[in-house]
Amino acid sequence: MDKVVIVTGGSRGIGAATCKLLASQGYAVCVNYRADKTSAEQVVAEIHEAGGRAIAFQADVSLEAEVEALFDATLKIYGSVTHLVNNAGMLFTQMPLVEMSLERFNKVMAANVSSCFLCSRAFLRRVQGPGAIVNVSSAAARTGSPFEYVDYAASKGAMDTLTKGLALEVAAQGIRVNAVRPGFIHTDMHADGGEPGRVERLAAQIPLKRGGQPLEVANAILWLLSDQASYVTGSFIDLAGGR
Ligand code: NAP
Repeated sequence: MDKVVIVTGGSRGIGAATCKLLASQGYAVCVNYRADKTSAEQVVAEIHEAGGRAIAFQADVSLEAEVEALFDATLKIYGSVTHLVNNAGMLFTQMPLVEMSLERFNKVMAANVSSCFLCSRAFLRRVQGPGAIVNVSSAAARTGSPFEYVDYAASKGAMDTLTKGLALEVAAQGIRVNAVRPGFIHTDMHADGGEPGRVERLAAQIPLKRGGQPLEVANAILWLLSDQASYVTGSFIDLAGGR
C-alpha cells in the first residue's frame, strides 16, 4: 500500500528532518507549514533532488477550515493519507505563570493541542485503516517547565492524554497512536522563547551531556510509524538524553 504522510510544521527543525527521513523511506510527504514558505519549499526541493515525493502546503493547523483544506489537498494529490505526524508547535518568551496573559495561554493551547485534535480527527474521518499517528509532545509534559513556559508544558501534557485516549479508541480499527517526547533539541524554537543558546546552557544538566539533533527525534518517529512498531500503541518514547 502506498504510504502517504502529512507532517504538520514540516518546514523547519524536527518536522523538516522527519519529512526528509520519511521521504527517503518511500513515503509521499505533505510538508505543512504556517508562514515560512521558503523553508518548506527548500525541504520539498531536497526531497525531490533525492528522488522522493513531496509537496508543500500552507495551513495554520490550529484552524479547522485550514486543517480540512490540508487533508483534502493531500488526498486529491496522492489519493490517500495513511500516516500523520502532529509536529507543529510553538512557545512564547520565558516567564513565570503569574505574568502570563490569557491570550498567550489560549494561543499556545490552540497551536499545540487544538491542532493535534483537529488533524487527528481529519485523519480518522478519511482513513479506513490501517494507519498510524505520531504526536510530537515534549519532556516538558513531565517537568512542567517552571519559570519558562508552564503553558507550553501543560499543552504537551494534554497532548499526552490525547495520545493515550485516542490510541484506545482506534486500536480495534488497526490505527496506532503514539508520541515522542523530545528534551532539548537544537532547533529555532528556543529563540522564540527568548534564549537561542538555551540548549547549550542546559547541556551540562543532561545525563548524555549534550542537546539532541532533529534527526535523532525523526528516527523514533519513523520507527513508530512503521510496521516495525506494529504492536506499539498508546506509548511514549522519551528522547531527552536521560532526563
Ligand atoms: P521549530 O523549529 O520552531 O519549527 C516549528 C514548526 O512548526 C515550523 O515548521 C512552523 O511553521 C510550524 N508551526 C508552528 N505553528 C504552526 C501552526 N499553527 N500551523 C502550522 N505549522 C505551524 O520547532 P521544533 O523545535 O522543530 O519543534 C517541533 C515540535 O517539537 C514542536 O511540537 C515542539 O513543541 C516539539 N519539541 C521541541 C523541542 C526542542 O527542544 N526543539 C523539545 C520538545 C518538543 P513555519 O516554519 O511556517 O513557522
